Amino acid sequence: MLKYNLSYWERETFFKDFDVAVLGCGLVGLTAALHLKRLQPRLNVAILERGALPAGASTRNAGFACYGSMTELLDDMSRMSADDVFSIVEKRWKGLQRLRQLVGDEHMDFQPCGGFEIFTDDEEEIFRECRERMPDFNQVIGQITGHPQPYIVADEHIARFGFRRVAHLILNQPEGQIHPGKMMARLLQLADEAGVRIFNGVHILSIEDSSCGVELQTAAGWVLRVPRVLVAVNGFARQLMPNLEVTPARNQVLITHPIPGLRVQGCFHYDRGYYYFRNVDGRILLGGGRHLDYSTETTSEFGPNELIRSALVQLLKTIICPGQPIEVDAWWTGILGLGPIKKPIVEQYSKHIVVAVRLSGMGIAIGSLVGEEGAERLLAL
Ligand SMILES: Cc1cc2nc3c(=O)[nH]c(=O)nc-3n(C[C@H](O)[C@H](O)[C@H](O)COP(=O)(O)OP(=O)(O)OC[C@H]3O[C@@H](n4cnc5c(N)ncnc54)[C@H](O)[C@@H]3O)c2cc1C
Repeated sequence: MLKYNLSYWERETFFKDFDVAVLGCGLVGLTAALHLKRLQPRLNVAILERGALPAGASTRNAGFACYGSMTELLDDMSRMSADDVFSIVEKRWKGLQRLRQLVGDEHMDFQPCGGFEIFTDDEEEIFRECRERMPDFNQVIGQITGHPQPYIVADEHIARFGFRRVAHLILNQPEGQIHPGKMMARLLQLADEAGVRIFNGVHILSIEDSSCGVELQTAAGWVLRVPRVLVAVNGFARQLMPNLEVTPARNQVLITHPIPGLRVQGCFHYDRGYYYFRNVDGRILLGGGRHLDYSTETTSEFGPNELIRSALVQLLKTIICPGQPIEVDAWWTGILGLGPIKKPIVEQYSKHIVVAVRLSGMGIAIGSLVGEEGAERLLAL
């Protein structure tokens, strides 16, 4: 890391008189900064981001505008009450509507394509359970979404998609997909227009609250003093605040080269949401498989996991696009922030610091609400 002192000019021109610093320029940091400016237009708001671009999950995810497949929600109900699970669904649904309002569907290629869940021929038992629970789910989630029948069995589509070994499909009708790159580009533009100052390449190494404000130590060697700070670094939170209950979780993602005559269209979940895939620009994006090697993937370091990568390629070639010549164009990884339950942490951390982290793999859905709640808590300090 480049080490240097700030010049007098830099200090007096660029890093002067911040009222608030937001750490992290992901979806949460950006929506928080926008909300702060909306509520108090004269507030001097800066976002400090370590990456050249946001370098966590917001520009590296799968772009599912989703609130939960049936097996994922049933799995959650083994750890949380049904009421708690449905209230999280409600928050995700409301968050998605807020995001659409904020960004605009046309600025993030929002497509209301529905979300499919696939069941392979060895998953008959869990499919039966889903079908039995479907009326209850539809009653509660129908009220939340305003859709009369969110989940339906959609086996008639299996042949159209060209899958192999897929015995059943459940379609969750109100879900959709977005282009995360365009979503983030639009939010950056809105933040710029609102007068938020964004600094990339500023890696905060430590954060110290005292009676006169917050001291931020940068990796470059210089120190910033700011009256109030909102921490929106999600999966990296423990690097700054080791006592926060946020576990980093890496996800492997691949994108294929364009596939002539691609039949897969829409968003697809598999195996309690551990795998996800979709079409994009005539290609398949496929990710997940963290449960195959939890211990290695419990990390905030980007990087490959060959065991998981070969399982993803196998899934692609045998089930999703069988019998077709498929080539992987690129791989990448992103970092999630998880906890013992799927609930974000939005709270006052100390006298001048608020945290808004732990998005639990559903940040597109809840990120805007988490950011806005974090902003309101900060203004209440
Ligand atoms: C592979 C993958 C697929 C996903 N798919 C979906 C999906 O389809 N649908 C969905 O709803 N959600 C999905 N998610 C989750 C979603 O992307 C995240 O929940 C959401 O983007 C989190 O936003 P955030 O702003 O809290 O965190 P991030 O986007 O991670 O932003 C945190 C920022 O903080 C910066 N930062 C960290 N430490 C420091 C520091 N010390 N100093 C300065 N800056 C720092 C990071 O560089 C980063 O830019 C996926 C995530 C991954 C990884």
